[in-house]
Parts: sequence; structure tokens; C-alpha cells
Amino acid sequence: MDAIIQVQHLKKRFKQLEVLHDINFDIHKGEVVTIIGSSGSGKSTLLRCINLLERLDDGHILYHGQDILGHHFDVNAYRSKVGMVFQGFNLFNNLTVLENCMIGQIKVLKRNKEEAKQMAFKYLEKVGMSAFANKSSVQLSGGQKQRVAIARALCMSPEVLLFDEPTSALDPEMVGDILNIMKELADEGLTMIVVTHEMEFAKDVSTRVVFMDQGVIAEEGTPEQIFEHPQEERTRTFLKRYL
Ligand code: ADP
Ligand code: MG
Repeated sequence: MDAIIQVQHLKKRFKQLEVLHDINFDIHKGEVVTIIGSSGSGKSTLLRCINLLERLDDGHILYHGQDILGHHFDVNAYRSKVGMVFQGFNLFNNLTVLENCMIGQIKVLKRNKEEAKQMAFKYLEKVGMSAFANKSSVQLSGGQKQRVAIARALCMSPEVLLFDEPTSALDPEMVGDILNIMKELADEGLTMIVVTHEMEFAKDVSTRVVFMDQGVIAEEGTPEQIFEHPQEERTRTFLKRYL
């Protein structure tokens, strides 16, 4: 099966500091890949490189075989196909919930207002937030903001959705809700890359688990391989903290 995204020999530096060393990674349709690893191991930077929020210093990222840094590559189209949900929600604070869900559809996908609104309600419904459509996003709790952020991302009809610690900024009682929504999306076949410290989620929902350590992929495999039979000492050391 063809990969949607292939990361090849990716290196990323901030000034002198190389934070990603020769990363090779790919994702296929329908996969749910969770990325685990200590803080500072490069997980966010990898997602940000995939979404072109960071410049690559070396290596290639291919989207259906096409280099995303190639001269003829349509970066805007790519960004709409590869959505991102952030730890800090990143909603537009000056817009209502509904407007947050419509703006990208109108500006980037050139959908008309009626179409964009229908789509927005479809996904706000899905995440249980349609009753809040006309509220300002600043009035929402963290868990509600993250639901809206997920609805907004889904409105763009993404081919792959990247999640960067989507529950890390939430009060504990909100975490389960968001994880349930994500599990539902996974069950429906959405292709996802999820950076998380929620090991139960990683165990239950992933098709593949990637363990990052100090800027490299130290080990990857099925949840069973990683959680039950880790091969690397550093994987075992990391996982012990979650037992
Ligand atoms: P993780 O998401 O796994 O916690 P990050 O990708 O955020 O790790 O960070 C990896 C390394 O890169 C860390 O050492 C971090 O301090 C550094 N880093 C991340 N973003 C920047 C930046 N914008 N400028 C300088 N250093 C950064
Ligand atoms: Mg991070």
C-alpha cells in the first residue's frame, strides 16, 4: 500500500542544536500512529515539520510521492489535507465557534458560506458542540475549545490529522471526552498521528507506536510489541514511568 506521507532522513536544527537526527517515518491510509517519548525528544518538532510549520534542514517529506518542498508543490492544498490539532487549541479568539469552523473552508477550500455552515454544524454536532455555535470561543472551557478545534480540523476534510498532545492542557475530567472523540475518529478510519502521554489510548487505539528519544526514533512497532515486549532499554525505562 502506498504511503500518504513519507519522511526521509529528516534533520532539524535550531541554531547549533540538532533536535531531529535522520528521522525516517511514514504513514499509510487508515493508520493511527501514536508518538510517545519524553519531553524534549522532538515529537512536536516532527509534527511541525510534517505540517510545514518548521523549515527542514535536511532530508525530504513526500506526500503521495511528491516532495512537499518541490517547486511545483501546492503547499496550501497540502496544508488543508494535513490538519493539526494543538495542545493549546489555537482557536481564533475574535471569532465565534461557528466562524472558527467556517473560515478555513471559505478561505482555503473556497466553499460557499452555506456549504461551509452545513459542514461546520455536521462536525460541531459530532463533537457535541453545536449548541455553542454562536458563542465566542473565549467563553469556552479548555475541553470545549479542544472539541471545537477538532471539529474545525474535520471541516477541512483532512486526509491525515496530526494531534500534538491534545489533552495535555486539559483538566483531568475533560481528558476522557477528548480521547473518546479521537477513538471514534480512529474507528471510523481517519488516518491520524497522535503525540500523547496517554498510554492507555496509545495501547487501545494505535495501529503503530513510535517511541522517540533525543531526536531519533528509538523503537517502533505494534502496541503489543512496544508495551509488552520493548526491545530497547530506553523504551523500557521510559515506559516504567507510566506503570
Ligand atoms: P517534544 O515535543 O518531544 O517535547 P520538541 O519538539 O518541542 O520536543 O523539542 C525538541 C527540542 O527542540 C527541545 O530541545 C526543544 O527545546 C527544542 N526546540 C523546540 N522548538 C524550538 C525553537 N522554536 N527554538 C529553539 N529550540 C527549540
Ligand atoms: Mg511537544
